[in-house]
Amino acid sequence: MEITIGAVVQGGTSLGYKTGTWRDERPILDMEQCKACGVCVSVCPDSAVHVKGETYIIDYDYCKGCGLCGYECPADAISMVKEEK
Ligand code: SF4
Ligand code: SF4
Repeated sequence: MEITIGAVVQGGTSLGYKTGTWRDERPILDMEQCKACGVCVSVCPDSAVHVKGETYIIDYDYCKGCGLCGYECPADAISMVKEEK
């Protein structure tokens, strides 16, 4: 089989790249305000928001701090704060 440049030859490799090191801002999720709608899970480009029981958890190993979750959250439950390095 001929493989062209740019082809994906093996799936699942993104788990090895912890994009959390790119972050300048950190999303903080306030479960008191959260309405459990799941929008943040849907929009996160890094699949960094997880549901555990009735709680939403951000995996900071993979969250790159793009802010999409906070922008789209209909309940203003996610705020972005400057990342301390
Ligand atoms: S988008 Fe906002 S309200 Fe919806 S689950 Fe995420 S944090 Fe909660
Ligand atoms: S800031 Fe971006 S990468 Fe981080 S959890 Fe929100 S949507 Fe995902």
